[in-house]
Amino acid sequence: MSTRAPAVQARQLIKTYPGEVTALSGMDITVEAGTVFGLLGPNGAGKSTTVKILTTLARPDSGTATVAGHDVLRHPDRVRRAIGVVAQKSGADPVATGRENLQLQGRLYGLRGAALQQRVAGLLARFDLTDAAGRQVKGYSGGMQRRLDVALGLVHRPEILFLDEPTTGLDPEARTAMWDEIARLADDEGLTILLTTHYLEEADRLADHIAIVDRGHVVVEGTPNALKGELRGDAVHLELREAVGEAGRTLLTGALTALPGVHEALFDGRRVSVRAEDGPAAVPALLGTLERAGVGVAAATVARPSLDDVYLRYAGRRYAEAEAAAEAGSLALAGGAR
Ligand code: ADP
Repeated sequence: MSTRAPAVQARQLIKTYPGEVTALSGMDITVEAGTVFGLLGPNGAGKSTTVKILTTLARPDSGTATVAGHDVLRHPDRVRRAIGVVAQKSGADPVATGRENLQLQGRLYGLRGAALQQRVAGLLARFDLTDAAGRQVKGYSGGMQRRLDVALGLVHRPEILFLDEPTTGLDPEARTAMWDEIARLADDEGLTILLTTHYLEEADRLADHIAIVDRGHVVVEGTPNALKGELRGDAVHLELREAVGEAGRTLLTGALTALPGVHEALFDGRRVSVRAEDGPAAVPALLGTLERAGVGVAAATVARPSLDDVYLRYAGRRYAEAEAAAEAGSLALAGGAR
């Protein structure tokens, strides 16, 4: 256990936007120094709002937060000096070169002369941008722009780096490269990193500690392995030919979980997610039980439990469904504003 004070601590943050939109409904997070913390949740869960408050760009309606030991409301200037922020939208000037962007950022933080040149050259090399340093940023690939954004966030050697959805919009190859880059930063430089993501895989891959957020607060947290380990055994996914009514679900849940080695059965539309000690061995009994109840099964798959299963368990809906609901919500809002 670390004896250092937490790098980030937020307690009961509440934030509502005009129009009764509750962005945060009691957000609690603690990030230990030197770790990578993943704030994972579907679109609209409140991740960006949390980051805005922690990086002093927004004020909570209530609640408290300290970053690098400084209160975000009382000492925003101290917080800003201690952190680097890589926002979702690039802060780089597209018509300036990569080198010019870094130089400007360095000057903003008081670097001058040889110290500035050294820092800029070091970062260009570190992020594999030396060859592109003299080119305008608008000609960079998505991956190069993202690497420059991270370099910009690191110019003043912050203690804590905030990465808001670092790989959204990147192609799979650039995403994998970015993952390696972030993992290296955490290992080599002992930086504390708080990243937000809506990719389950990204959180699984990068974070030492994950907090799953839904509707403005943390629903469950732990290490990726602990979260997955909570779901002992295998996950068996059954695709039904048709959805089952409420009464049928209750009966079937009872019948399925009464089978030996079967711990849990969660219905979600036409899908049933079952936890079983030995997935392949449980499939015939699961199918038999459903068939006898007159419920046809179109497909059955067995998998190790994923974070998606954890999410379903704690948020009560599938990740994709939550994303679709957020999408529909923002479309409805956009429509209403017209
Ligand atoms: P996430 O980053 O997890 O996608 P956000 O923090 O951006 O979530 O948003 C949380 C909720 O607050 C959403 O319902 C979103 O529509 C709403 N929201 C965010 N920013 C604003 C804003 N400036 N004005 C009004 N509503 C907002």
